Amino acid sequence: MTNAKAERSRQQLLSRLRWGSGFAQRFRYLPQLEVRSLYTIFDQDGWEFDEALYQAWQQGQTGFPIIDAAARCLQATGGWQQLNFRVRAMYSSFLSNLLRMDWRYGALHFMRHLLDGDCPIDHYQWAMQSGVTHCVDKTWTRIYNPEQTAVDRCDPEGLFIKRWVPELAHLSPEDLGLPPSLLLKDYPSPILNYKQARQRRVKQLEHQRQLFLHQQNVVPYLARLPKLLTPFGAERFASEVGWAKAESPQLFPPPLNLDDLDLEQSHALRTWFVAHINIKPHKPRQSKKKALKSDDFVQLDLLS
Ligand SMILES: Cc1cc2nc3c(=O)[nH]c(=O)nc-3n(C[C@H](O)[C@H](O)[C@H](O)COP(=O)(O)OP(=O)(O)OC[C@H]3O[C@@H](n4cnc5c(N)ncnc54)[C@H](O)[C@@H]3O)c2cc1C
Repeated sequence: MTNAKAERSRQQLLSRLRWGSGFAQRFRYLPQLEVRSLYTIFDQDGWEFDEALYQAWQQGQTGFPIIDAAARCLQATGGWQQLNFRVRAMYSSFLSNLLRMDWRYGALHFMRHLLDGDCPIDHYQWAMQSGVTHCVDKTWTRIYNPEQTAVDRCDPEGLFIKRWVPELAHLSPEDLGLPPSLLLKDYPSPILNYKQARQRRVKQLEHQRQLFLHQQNVVPYLARLPKLLTPFGAERFASEVGWAKAESPQLFPPPLNLDDLDLEQSHALRTWFVAHINIKPHKPRQSKKKALKSDDFVQLDLLS
């Protein structure tokens, strides 16, 4: 490996570790982020829930091969070294932005299966991919297209999809975005129309964000620490959450009390939640890339 390449890889690792530490810092001061969206409005309305659709997303039965491959890979391997950032982001965005289900249902599922599950990173990444974090200065959220664009970008030879969705092994990569139902007998048809779902979500987020767009002081809109700290989704699993029944337990280290902040401190806190780089919508590239192959798992294309 050339020095330049080694240096670039070192810089990338440092920036990723910085991302991870930044999320840990946010959770240290704002532990409510484990159970609440950053801005209260996003927990007040707008999420839908359908158990059958949630199960289809978990079990890899959505009719979108790249999403179903990610779902089955996560359950079978715990995702470490198999599910890179882009595929985790695409899989999460499908649940919260296209199925419009509360991101906390997804974060819960990831934490129950990810080998490298890390609560601050997982929950904050879920919230980011759902468009409920960086809102004060940016009105655009990346909603991943789970169709052919995704296959061309992440799995151009379809090796990952064919590994985890063997019922599609006979298809050519060009048909793996939205498999023609004629060619399929035991694979579900798509559970949603991507374009319509995307439009609805973009409209919804724009409407919700109007409330505090470009506000200098976002503290009034931020979620507060709830009295009861019952983990989200605890009712779905037989888990011991007696500890969470104590009203306003003494947390250590003590969380930031948002109501004690003066204007200068509120402005300083705002810098945690604005994008420090000008993010523009991504222009799709035409090029098709060859997937790397080593041993028995496929390294998905990360940087494109
Ligand atoms: C919805 C979603 C959920 C995620 N859940 C987790 C999780 O529970 N645990 C986790 O470690 N990473 C999580 N990530 C971040 C990222 O996908 C993984 O850290 C990365 O894929 C792991 O690859 P690696 O082991 O090769 O780590 P490298 O790429 O070598 O990175 C080294 C370390 O840096 C940190 N890191 C890397 N990328 C990110 C990132 N984008 N944001 C924050 N920290 C990062 C992690 O601690 C990682 O172990 C999530 C991403 C998304 C989109």
